[in-house]
Amino acid sequence: MGEKIVVKVGTSTLTYENGRLNFRRMEQLCKVLCDLQNRGNKILLVSSGAIAVGMGKLALPSRPKETKQLQALAAVGQCELMFMYDKFFGEYNHTVAQILLTKHVVETEPKQNNVINTVETLFDMNILPIVNENDTVAIDEMPGENFGDNDMLSAMVATMIGADRLIILSDIDGLYDKNPRQFEDAKLITSIPKIDEKIFEMAADGAGSNRGTGGMKTKLSAAQRVTESGIVCSIINGKRPENLYDLIDNKGIGTTFAPKQL
Ligand code: ADP
Repeated sequence: MGEKIVVKVGTSTLTYENGRLNFRRMEQLCKVLCDLQNRGNKILLVSSGAIAVGMGKLALPSRPKETKQLQALAAVGQCELMFMYDKFFGEYNHTVAQILLTKHVVETEPKQNNVINTVETLFDMNILPIVNENDTVAIDEMPGENFGDNDMLSAMVATMIGADRLIILSDIDGLYDKNPRQFEDAKLITSIPKIDEKIFEMAADGAGSNRGTGGMKTKLSAAQRVTESGIVCSIINGKRPENLYDLIDNKGIGTTFAPKQL
């Protein structure tokens, strides 16, 4: 009956423009995820936001540029982020667990099995795993050494645990036929049977907000990766966490990429 669902939430959904946490949205998201879990689904959340939360906690006026400073901030912020998740999920009597991953772990088979075993055991205990990249270990100055973006991390995790679907919460309603921030007449595409070059051409480079990271192209790469493994992928607007209900209840929301028939 229930589905195994990976939900990815980005910094732009979790924070205000000034970088501080949007508690209201975070609380709504946690409530919806608890409810979806109560319906019998197994939910895994991939959450960004550690650096932004660290900046807020240390009251830094701007984002540092040096990698080691960003890593230190992420280490501070991750702690606070999990504290908030623990608090909000705890309000509905749900338990969360933290899993920090690196690309190396996800790509090495014996280590991968450790992660899968942990996640499955947490699911059996009705605990919701919250995954993020281990920023202390992942060094983005070495090309190929990190995921680049949590969109790809969420795709790799979804594939690894054999999820039924990946839902990417974004700061936009889904994929448009051209960048809606540039073109007023851009139209939302609700369903995409196959991701080819034409689809990639619709996405402009770069993130949409000062806090976004990957942009639409990384979301398409993530969607491509999971759909090839037979997993349904959707991009929906994270501004309204209740959109998750509408998506799961097939109310035609966001953009859905059909899985390849295996
Ligand atoms: P998030 O922070 O939600 O992960 P990103 O900023 O990484 O979001 O990516 C979403 C952004 O991608 C949108 O806000 C938009 O500015 C940009 N974008 C570029 N091309 C498109 C497109 N064709 N359809 C939708 N969004 C697009």
